[in-house]
Amino acid sequence: MTIQEGTNSGKTYEVDGAEHRAPAPPANVNANASGFREEFDIEHRDLRGGEFWRRIPAYSQVPTEMFLDHTWQLKNSITSVDKMLDTLRDIVTQEFYDDMKAGFAGAPMAVRVSPYVMSLIDWDKPYDDPLRRQFIPLSSRLLEDHPELHLDTLKEQDDSPVFGLTHRYQDKALFLALDICPVYCRYCTRSYAVGFDTHGVEKVKLAQDEKRYQSVFEYIRSQPQLEDIVVSGGDAYMLRPARIKLIGETLLNIPHVRRIRFATKGPAIMPMKILTDDAWYGAVRDVVDMGRRMHKEVVVHTHFSHPNECTEISKRAMDKLFADGIRCRNQAVFQRGVNDDPDTMVLLTRRLAYVNVQPYYVYMHDLVQGVEDLRTTLQKGIDVEKYVRGTTAGFNTPNFVVDAPGGGGKRQLHSYEHYDRETGISVYTAPNVKPGRFFLYFDPFDTLSEQVRKAWKDPKQREEMKQSALEAAKREVGHSTL
Ligand SMILES: *Cc1c(COP(=O)(O)O)cnc(C)c1O
Repeated sequence: MTIQEGTNSGKTYEVDGAEHRAPAPPANVNANASGFREEFDIEHRDLRGGEFWRRIPAYSQVPTEMFLDHTWQLKNSITSVDKMLDTLRDIVTQEFYDDMKAGFAGAPMAVRVSPYVMSLIDWDKPYDDPLRRQFIPLSSRLLEDHPELHLDTLKEQDDSPVFGLTHRYQDKALFLALDICPVYCRYCTRSYAVGFDTHGVEKVKLAQDEKRYQSVFEYIRSQPQLEDIVVSGGDAYMLRPARIKLIGETLLNIPHVRRIRFATKGPAIMPMKILTDDAWYGAVRDVVDMGRRMHKEVVVHTHFSHPNECTEISKRAMDKLFADGIRCRNQAVFQRGVNDDPDTMVLLTRRLAYVNVQPYYVYMHDLVQGVEDLRTTLQKGIDVEKYVRGTTAGFNTPNFVVDAPGGGGKRQLHSYEHYDRETGISVYTAPNVKPGRFFLYFDPFDTLSEQVRKAWKDPKQREEMKQSALEAAKREVGHSTL
């Protein structure tokens, strides 16, 4: 809701269900003296509530208590194409139905969508819906992959001293504790491992295996420079409580480990688990409390990408985390048709801050196969970043980063050494992570001119384009004072 006319003084607005009235400014004060826009925008406080799931025939009889129960959500998550088709048969057009069926047939990721997510999708406009885009592939929207896309473009497996642990930066490491998630994202950067095997992809297995865990812990113990461990996967939402405790307590008891993050998309796709899974929640809270007593930080990192994912139910879940002193930060992925328009990104940023989730990162989309329709140009990211910065507190303003393909690590997106908008090549360096090396990122194939697309398909011209981008980047690096 935007209040349009005049200033907002004297208007009423809602906070936490209670009505407030803004007092008029003193008569001698010009409320707009500093040139602010005359209206203020409080749409981010307007969280979706009510029994929104009842619009879907399959959930029309589901009472609130059942919908808010995580076991019901898990049991009723859609894990097969047939079930998905079944659930939607009566509410989408035949055209959309066929499109979706063909879309699944070619998708490299496994299917799993929670009833919560299904209910947040606007099935009257399924082609444009930002959540549909993230979880449900359509054949008609599939675009040709960029020739530089491979499985595991981040080369996580190359920086793995032990299976399932990526140690790329000096003081922090990424522990992939499992390979399952409560919801599978079409665009998963770890589709080399996450989810069950699909047509094209036989996956690396990251089992929740005691022996594998022990070798990961042994490695971390042997590396005194490691202070920060990201526990991801897969998704920490799917870790059994005993595993959360085992991982948390073992890591906290390693003297040099100072910080742990549990990474989960959970709050964005099944917030009710935080409210009703007492065993899981209790395990997380106990690890956080144990860390606090040891003066070590244990936090939750989550993955909201669109403001529609954050509802009144999410707020209740985030309020519970906040009240228990569990900090939560967000990592969003920048996606075409999802959050690549500036107002949506501002809304997401403000809404997350409103529910006490700190917007930490917005990632340029990784070079993942089969999701070129979700990627944007680097230019788009640059433009939206400029628009978002300044709209709210600096500590709640996300860093826009590119995870440099080939293992350069996360780079601030404006810090490219060179960006050729015509060939779509940007070049980054990572002086601390991989000194002397250059990392190339590529704009989506369909955004390039026909002539350039042709050049990409010719091995000789492809090499020339990359070479010339590298040369330009090397000239830039020549200006560095380091
Ligand atoms: C993202 C990442 C981390 C954590 O990096 P931060 O910038 O501190 O969030 C650690 N290791 C790997 C391999 C990563 O990809």
